[in-house]
Parts: sequence; C-alpha cells; structure tokens
Amino acid sequence: MIQSKGFASYDPKADLKPYTFERREIGDSDILIDIKFCGICHSDIHTVRDEWGKAHHPLVPGHEIVGIIKKVGSKVTRFKEGDTVGVGCMVDSCGNCSNCKDHAEQFCHKQPTFTYNSIDEYQQVTQGGYSNNIVVKEKFVLKMPQNLPLDKSAPLLCAGITTYSPLRHYKIGKGHKVGVIGLGGLGHMAVKFAHAFGAKVVVLTTSAHKKEDALRLGADEVVVSKNADEMAKQTGTLDFILDTVSAPHEVEKYIALLKTNGTLCMVGASPDPHQVTSFSLIFGRRSLSGSLIGGIKETQEMLDYCGKHHITCDIEMIPIQKVNEAYTRVLKSDVKYRFVIDMSSMNG
Ligand code: NAP
Ligand code: ZN
Repeated sequence: MIQSKGFASYDPKADLKPYTFERREIGDSDILIDIKFCGICHSDIHTVRDEWGKAHHPLVPGHEIVGIIKKVGSKVTRFKEGDTVGVGCMVDSCGNCSNCKDHAEQFCHKQPTFTYNSIDEYQQVTQGGYSNNIVVKEKFVLKMPQNLPLDKSAPLLCAGITTYSPLRHYKIGKGHKVGVIGLGGLGHMAVKFAHAFGAKVVVLTTSAHKKEDALRLGADEVVVSKNADEMAKQTGTLDFILDTVSAPHEVEKYIALLKTNGTLCMVGASPDPHQVTSFSLIFGRRSLSGSLIGGIKETQEMLDYCGKHHITCDIEMIPIQKVNEAYTRVLKSDVKYRFVIDMSSMNG
C-alpha cells in the first residue's frame, strides 16, 4: 500500500483535520501522482458538510488536482514518470455503456466513480486531492498544458470543464448574449470562456464590489441582481444563462431575462429545491436545463484550448492549514476567484 497524508472531514459539523491513510499499490494501468496543487470547489464544502447526503467520513475532498507523475504501471502507454498531469472529478466509469462509449463518462449509466466519496471497484472509499499523492487509472489522467502555470491551472479540472462543456454544448459564440449568474470559482471561468468564444457577456452578481473584476475578466456588462431596475433593463435580452449559484435563489427572476427560445442552464448545485412556475417557461418557450462537469475527452480538449489561448484561473494560494478559513470565506462569497492549496505545505 502507498502511504498518504492529507486533510479530511471527520464530522459534517467539524473542521477538516490532518488524516493519514493508505492508497492502493499501483496496478498495471495505474499512475501514482505527487500532488502539487489542489483547488477548493464549493462541491467539496457541500459534500463534507453532508449537504448532498451523508458522506463517507473521514473524507479527503478535492477534485482540482495537478501534480507530477512519480510512477506508472507496466501497461501505461500515454504517460511517463515526471509528466505534469491533472485529475478532475472522476477516476473511473463502467466504460461499456452508451454514454461511456460516447465520451460522456460523467453520465455513465452505472454512475462514474467520483474522485472522492465514491466506492471504487476495490470497495474502498475514494479519497481526493487535499493530500500529497493519488493513484488513478491512466484513462482518467489528463495532460496539463506545458505553457501554463500549474497552480493557476488546477481549477480548470472542475471549474474549467464545468463551464466550458455547457457553453460548447449550446454552441455559444459570436452573436450571442450570455448571462453568468454568480462570480465565484465557476462563474469567473464561465466569463472567460464565453468571452473567448466571442459572445457578449453579462455578469449577474449579488456583490456590487465585484464589478471591476467582472469587466477585467471579460464581461461586457455587470448587473447587480439585487437592483430591480438594473435587472428590468435586461428583460428578454439574453440568449443563454449559465447559473453557477451554490445556494437557493429566485431562478424565475433570471429566466425572465431570456429571449424567446432562450435557455437557463444550471451548473450550481444548491442542496435545496428551486421554485419555477410553468408560466415562466411556456411564455417565450424558454428552457431550463442542467450540466454536469464534462467527459474526459472534452476535459482534455478544454485544457488544450486553455493552453492555446492562455486561459488560466484567478487564484488565491493557501497552505493546507488554512483550509477551514478558506471554506468560511467561500461561503461568504469572499474568494477571488478560487482558493488553491499549495500541497508542499503538507510537510510544514
Ligand atoms: P463559489 O465560488 O462559492 O461561487 C458561487 C457564487 O454564487 C458566489 O461567489 C456568489 O457570487 C453567488 N452566490 C452565492 N450565494 C448566493 C445566493 N444566496 N444568491 C445568489 N448568488 C449567490 O462556488 P463554485 O465553486 O463556483 O460552485 C458553484 C456551485 O456549482 C456549487 O453549488 C457547486 O457545488 C456547483 N458545481 C457544480 C458542478 C457541476 O458539474 N454541475 C461542478 C462544480 C461545482 P456573487 O458574489 O457574484 O453573487
Ligand atoms: Zn468541483
């Protein structure tokens, strides 16, 4: 077995604390990665606090993982020791269902094995990236762009693909006006991608102080959603909205901003239900949809796109000892715009 150390939740109500555990020895198709950086996603917080259901504590969260390969199994062909690689939200899937065959492993009919809080094929609880190493099947390991700083690339593995994928699916580009609700980890990447794809971008934020940042990140307009007049001006103007909000909010207020035939796509995963009336959708034939991360092939495509277009994340680096403080700040929407853990602090 391989010794690992990280930070884990022991209880949904308590702080994360140091945790020592074992990972499986690498098999023929496995890769052992020394983790350098790991982003903090709001999903980590939902999970360890049992907001999405009871988690398998003690649980090491983290699915925005980047690092250097330490060892490869005998059947690994695409990677070698010393390569810079990433791991996102999934580490396995059945590989045989129509969605897996169609490169949409996130929708595997048997459920993908998520990077943490899943039971893997060895009947072990998967443990994530707030740790010094990880063992992952080759198929779920991504090549990181060589020209981008590794720390600022870590959040691409979740915040990046989760926003890139729906924007691509809905073929967002030149001539579209796109709304992004919530300027957090996902939201700031949605702004960068929608802008890079040629769309006009409107940020819909509850935080007036984020206005300048939103414009710098690529927004053309910023609407403070608490201001009814500013919201009213956008009524019926948006082709597409990406909703990244992590908490309950008035979705109908935003649906009203869509043009006829427009779509509001949810990526934010509030644990509580939203209220949406039929009328908000049937008038204007509007659609409400959702999207879950992206497949492995598309994640690699997104990483390559970021390398080509020099797209990285705006991060605040922290040592792992500050993870609980970072959680408190994420919950106050006080993060610009992703916390990333420097894993060298694990030894500090
Ligand atoms: P985050 O950094 O906390 O950003 C969420 C943003 O939403 C906040 O910065 C804030 O932006 C806004 N917000 C927060 N509370 C709000 C409220 N009560 N009303 C209106 N706006 C509010 O979180 P994240 O890491 O980007 O994740 C966002 C959500 O996406 C989480 O629920 C996460 O679990 C989910 N997620 C889903 C997927 C997927 O595959 N679908 C993948 C990753 C994450 P402003 O200050 O600008 O208002
Ligand atoms: Zn995430």
